Amino acid sequence: MIIIFLGPPGAGKGTQAKRIAEKHGIPQLSTGDMLRAAIANGTELGKKCKAIMDAGDLVSDDIVAGIIGDRIEEPDCKPGFLLDGFPRTVKQAELLDQILKNKDRKVDVVLELVVDDEALVERLNSRIAETKARGEEVRSDDNEETFRKRLGVYNDQTAPLVPFYKEQGLVKSIDGMKSIDEVTAAIEVAVS
Ligand code: ADP
Repeated sequence: MIIIFLGPPGAGKGTQAKRIAEKHGIPQLSTGDMLRAAIANGTELGKKCKAIMDAGDLVSDDIVAGIIGDRIEEPDCKPGFLLDGFPRTVKQAELLDQILKNKDRKVDVVLELVVDDEALVERLNSRIAETKARGEEVRSDDNEETFRKRLGVYNDQTAPLVPFYKEQGLVKSIDGMKSIDEVTAAIEVAVS
């Protein structure tokens, strides 16, 4: 099963994606995590992406499509995979279609997690406070200003993927304002 997870920053995508991927025994492919790992490892790719990510902008479509194209060649992706944070633009969705078509595979479902913008900013501020309280480092793009920028980028560039996939009859919208467990349950219903 190939699942795409769409949702604005801070909507709880990462948490839910992890649960659903584990439950279905498929890997969770998060482009954000992969890019952060590249930065942490000091690779050329990481160096190229750091400033862009810190500013809340998007890394180039070809770079992320290349990363995902390579990753889904791995044997663990054979039974399926869950995409978290990719595609993020219509161009990326088209590149993904091409990659999958070459392998005779296709997307099964697109989950859209819906949360309103002000609730997201509130969640961000509590996430920052909790991370600091645990003595952990806050993500370098997690401050209110950059976050609002990321929200704007989502609304401008990623939200158009909802009608793009709706046309293909693939979208299931999930109310992301409920509790974590309620959201997981709603996703399970949508996926099964
Ligand atoms: P969030 O879940 O908070 O939206 P992510 O961890 O998915 O954040 O991504 C963090 C940053 O990594 C993005 O703001 C962007 O700069 C970069 N990034 C991640 N995925 C993509 C992608 N598919 N295309 C372009 N940039 C990406």
